[in-house]
Amino acid sequence: MSALVLDASDVRRLLPMETCIDLMADALATLGRGEAVNPLRQVLRLPGGSGILGVMPGSMAAPEVFGLKVISVFFANHGTEYDSHQGVVLLFETEHGAPVAVVDASEITATRTAAVSGVATRLLAREDAGDLAILGSGVQARSHLDAMACVRDLRRVRIWSPTRENRETFARDQAIRHGIPVEATETAEAAVHDADIVCTVTAASEPVLEGEWLAAGAHVNAVGASVPTARELDTAAMQRSRLFVDRRESAENEAGDYLIPLGQGEIDEDHILGEIGELLLGEAEGRTTSDDVTLFKSLGLAVEDLASAYHVYRRAQEEGAGAPIAIGGPVAAD
Ligand code: NDP
Repeated sequence: MSALVLDASDVRRLLPMETCIDLMADALATLGRGEAVNPLRQVLRLPGGSGILGVMPGSMAAPEVFGLKVISVFFANHGTEYDSHQGVVLLFETEHGAPVAVVDASEITATRTAAVSGVATRLLAREDAGDLAILGSGVQARSHLDAMACVRDLRRVRIWSPTRENRETFARDQAIRHGIPVEATETAEAAVHDADIVCTVTAASEPVLEGEWLAAGAHVNAVGASVPTARELDTAAMQRSRLFVDRRESAENEAGDYLIPLGQGEIDEDHILGEIGELLLGEAEGRTTSDDVTLFKSLGLAVEDLASAYHVYRRAQEEGAGAPIAIGGPVAAD
């Protein structure tokens, strides 16, 4: 018995966005039914402030698998040939506890995070939402554009990030990839004005999105800022939104977007109206009118990584892809 090593190109080929959106809906429903264990992640801050190491274990009943993602986050990598998120997802089988796969985590993270926002958008955005604003022009900006295009008919896209060259390159490349108008704007406000869907996918720790810019009926996916001291949204954006999260426990411990206004007494603890899993199971009420502003605060969960990596592993087995390594399995006789 051996484990399979699956690299970034395997993940890209075997985990199309559309498939991943369905996988993420299943994984979050599994979590919502209480059929998964997903402890809070551990975050190790590296000496000198160069980056962090996140350790995210979990187990789930469907697919039946356990394991963890170990991922470093080095934001200074942005603009270099290195991804700012690098690591591996390790999968174990549940009969003997043998490791079965080691999967590239950069690609899994890029795709599964956007796919989860795709699930949230499918559930919460207006049916006719077709005007998309993205704040941030990095890895998640690209995968979020792919995911939004899977769940809504996009008419136009506006993109803002602080570095002009990066936002303009993004607009040029993605207009060609998607065959729709993609415009780089000078300010975040100009990108967001009258948008139906707003994705915040920046490395910012101070707000880049102001609530007063949001049009009635907009849906927001807030994806950056995964620690209690950082936020991408100002207090007004949080106050005027119907808030949904990937998981309450994560939001209550990790989401500065929620915790900072909560600590200032600007919102109450009951501001979180539900988890995405609860929406999927019909246990929470999402959008109630076409004028509601809905907000999905994403923190990222181990079960999302496990379900995505497991799909890649099973597809690789079918194809005979990946490199086997002799780790785990029965102990060989001397
Ligand atoms: P990248 O490093 O690829 O891109 C970072 C982006 O943030 C760039 O477009 C950069 O703009 C922009 N940026 C940097 N500093 C600021 C600032 N002060 N204000 C506004 N924009 C800024 O990162 P990713 O795309 O991989 O990740 C984006 C965010 O999503 C990060 O916060 C990351 O931690 C988070 N994330 C969340 C996950 C989840 O599950 N919720 C999973 C993975 C990532 P420019 O190019 O113009 O310099």
